[in-house]
Amino acid sequence: MRGSQSTLAERLRFKLHRAELKATAMGLKLMPLRESRLHEGLDATHSLAREIGHYGVNKVLIVTTAGVVKRQQLDTLIAALAQNQVGFAIYSGITPDPSVSVVKEGLQAQQQHQCDAVVAFGGGSAIDASKAIVVAATNDKPVEKLVGIRKGRNKPLPLFCVPTTAGTGSEVTSVAVISDDVTHTKRFIIDSRTIAKGVALDPALSQSLPPSITAETGMDALTHAIEAYLSQLASPQTDALALEAIELIFTHLPEVYRNGGNLESRAAMARASLIAGKAFRKAMLGYVHAISHQLGACYGLPHGFANAILLPRIVAFSQDAVQDKLAQLAIETGLGEASLGRSDLAGLTLDRLERLNTELGIPDNVESLKEQDIPSIASAAYKEALSVHAGPKYMGRKDIQALLRGLLPQ
Ligand code: NAD
Repeated sequence: MRGSQSTLAERLRFKLHRAELKATAMGLKLMPLRESRLHEGLDATHSLAREIGHYGVNKVLIVTTAGVVKRQQLDTLIAALAQNQVGFAIYSGITPDPSVSVVKEGLQAQQQHQCDAVVAFGGGSAIDASKAIVVAATNDKPVEKLVGIRKGRNKPLPLFCVPTTAGTGSEVTSVAVISDDVTHTKRFIIDSRTIAKGVALDPALSQSLPPSITAETGMDALTHAIEAYLSQLASPQTDALALEAIELIFTHLPEVYRNGGNLESRAAMARASLIAGKAFRKAMLGYVHAISHQLGACYGLPHGFANAILLPRIVAFSQDAVQDKLAQLAIETGLGEASLGRSDLAGLTLDRLERLNTELGIPDNVESLKEQDIPSIASAAYKEALSVHAGPKYMGRKDIQALLRGLLPQ
């Protein structure tokens, strides 16, 4: 493994992981995933409420944040639910990186109001908490015991999503990321039955995002697309989705950062985030996510912000293993002509990632990172990478430590 500092034991573990990925690939090929009904445009929430009505739901729990309520972003949904004879209750206690106790509070609201479906209205945090709530609602198990793959025996309640950020793609993925209350470690509840039945993408909802959150969440979507594209589990289908998302993000993310009111670009980003979600739910992710989850847990960094800082560095580390794909990405997204050499083209992709961070005001180091935390962060990232991810070039603990040292504040 060129350029890697991995030990013999780690190299054996990588071999085993490669074999595990082969089995995963077979499973993913056979597993049909739900295609959510998509409602797009300024009328999307209205048309989602109609779908909920047709579905025979009596009362939904709207899971959201205090900010959404304050900005009066629920008004259209609430009016449309009434028109379709669907009752509602609201749980607005969602906080970023929702914890187990936040999920439990939401579950209590669902039980108290006897809701038979959930509408997640917010960013990835509201959507992920809602996924955990719909599984917990039908399974007599503490939320902590639902961590893992399909731990609920019974079918979850139906979930509908109205994303207000354009980043996670959580509305179409099988994963809910929930934080431990004490350690802040991120845990995964994985169940393909939590993929939303219906999704409303209304570009007006993300207009209220400040530039910094627009940038961070957009870079999260780009990270999903790029990690899926470079994954060992990538296929022609996931490549097509990933490339479509990358092109949309390269074009529209700098615009929505500068001009948050541009509805056309907001719509394009919402679509890109969803498409990237579809790519990574099949191809999985890589070391950017494995490391960024630990930085998030340790220092409370926003997920997309940590991803953005790591993305160019991990792609650079993996460059020799995926040069042809990086070159193809440059051609497909118009960064360079096919007549250029593969290595020059791959370099153009890397340049674009670095320039994008600069354009979006994202730094190239982590202000809060401390040298003494690096070994434990690297160890946790190493473990996560080999449990749920499929990055193209393996990183040993020392490789991850070296990469993290490059992020220490100057
Ligand atoms: P978020 O939902 O945590 O929201 C970030 C901040 O933006 C919050 O303060 C929120 O209140 C605010 N906000 C949201 N929409 C707004 C709007 N329209 N206007 C103004 N402010 C708004 O951020 P996120 O990046 O969407 O989600 C991050 C979470 O999603 C993390 O916990 C991450 O681990 C998880 N995640 C899940 C998946 C998945 O597939 N399930 C994928 C990636 C990330």
